[in-house]
Amino acid sequence: MFLLDQWKLVLNKLENEVTAVTFDLWINTLTPIQYANDELILMAPSVTAKNQVKQPGIFEKITKCVRQEFTPYTFVRVTEQKEYEEDIRRQDAELEKMMSETTQIKSKFNKKYTFDSFVVGKSNQVVCAAMQSVAEHPSEKFNPLFIYGGVGLGKTHLLHAVGNYLNEHRPDLNVLYVTCEKFTNDYVESIRNGKDKANGDFRDKYRNVDVLMIDDIQFISNKMGIQEEFFHTFNDLYQNNKQIIIASDRSPKDMSALEERLRSRFSSGLIQDIQEPDYETKVAIIRKKCSQEGYLVDEDVIDFIAQKASTNVREMEGILSKIVFYSSLIGKSHASMEDAHEALKDYGETERTNLDAEKIMNTVCDFFKVTKEDLIGKKKNKEIVEPRQMCIYLINDMLNIPLTAIGEIFGGRDHTTIMHARDKISNQIKVNPHVKTLVNDIKSQLLKY
Ligand code: ADP
Ligand code: MG
Repeated sequence: MFLLDQWKLVLNKLENEVTAVTFDLWINTLTPIQYANDELILMAPSVTAKNQVKQPGIFEKITKCVRQEFTPYTFVRVTEQKEYEEDIRRQDAELEKMMSETTQIKSKFNKKYTFDSFVVGKSNQVVCAAMQSVAEHPSEKFNPLFIYGGVGLGKTHLLHAVGNYLNEHRPDLNVLYVTCEKFTNDYVESIRNGKDKANGDFRDKYRNVDVLMIDDIQFISNKMGIQEEFFHTFNDLYQNNKQIIIASDRSPKDMSALEERLRSRFSSGLIQDIQEPDYETKVAIIRKKCSQEGYLVDEDVIDFIAQKASTNVREMEGILSKIVFYSSLIGKSHASMEDAHEALKDYGETERTNLDAEKIMNTVCDFFKVTKEDLIGKKKNKEIVEPRQMCIYLINDMLNIPLTAIGEIFGGRDHTTIMHARDKISNQIKVNPHVKTLVNDIKSQLLKY
């Protein structure tokens, strides 16, 4: 979905949350300009507007609604024209300085994100192997390499791992990492700065790289010739045998706004998905994180996090650090189960750990105005089937119970039926914003504290 469309969904929500005056005068003047690495940047038309929307009461509501539409851990930053332009100018100056120093365009990578620190399990072993082989043999293996998967599953981590590896082993190569938004902004900026010279700069920058990595390509817009420009960049690099790596939250065939020619370019290489980690992998990830950060945590706390947290690794890390932070606050060097409960209570997350199928069913029934008997029963009309599938999806997504057990709850249905229902909703979430909103609404109701 485009950033603007996603923002419109936020606006729809916000309209009911604030006064009409606040909405029309201030909120409606905001423009979303960038969403990357879990940060949404909103541009206000003036300093006054910026200050208005940053008032505690209003800003909290914006954040709340943004988190419902984007991800539950999106940070919102409000900027204003002058400030933003200064930021860009500073970034450009830095880039220019870097280029004049080295005549190379090199991205800096987060040192924490390496192949070593990446835990490999069933869900991600193929992706990880592909990324490793591209890092070891750029332009010789899979080109382009397109990886995709849900939020927080390690795509950005792997891109940085490739970057770190190359910077260490192949310092001769220009490795450039950009988010899709950065690519877009660079291009728009180059047009704004008057055609020829700036456009030349843009091309120089993007076409003089040996390895180009573009993160979150799902935000590629087909406005202002962005896809066109990307297509040319892609072709140039490809023809010169340069490596291209792309990450997305969905597969090229699920990117509805993607031009056919780009889609077919992507499929000329390797397209590989990254799945949600299973229980063992989650435990391994938490252990690794603990040893990396020097956290001392009881075994049962690790098990608890792996059981209760969703499959999103970032969320898992968040829960872990809350627990460790809490235990260190009360002067303990070792976090116990007791600390875990206390820590999450402080953050209002005990509800979540008490979440069960019963609660999810009740909430779904409330939302759709159906009865529990109907949910479990055999009725096949749309009014019942949809809530039933939704409920199955939510139970599967939010609780860690096997499909067969979910089948039991739903009147002894077969696990393949359960799987089908779950997949149906998860596919709909990807293509239908209303379903996504609905799921988020029910979830936030369930996680409310
Ligand atoms: P994505 O880009 O897919 O949304 P990220 O790469 O930002 O996800 O990952 C979110 C967090 O989870 C990061 O801190 C990352 O280090 C961590 N993470 C994800 N998968 C793994 C893994 N398999 N092993 C170790 N850490 C992981
Ligand atoms: Mg990412």
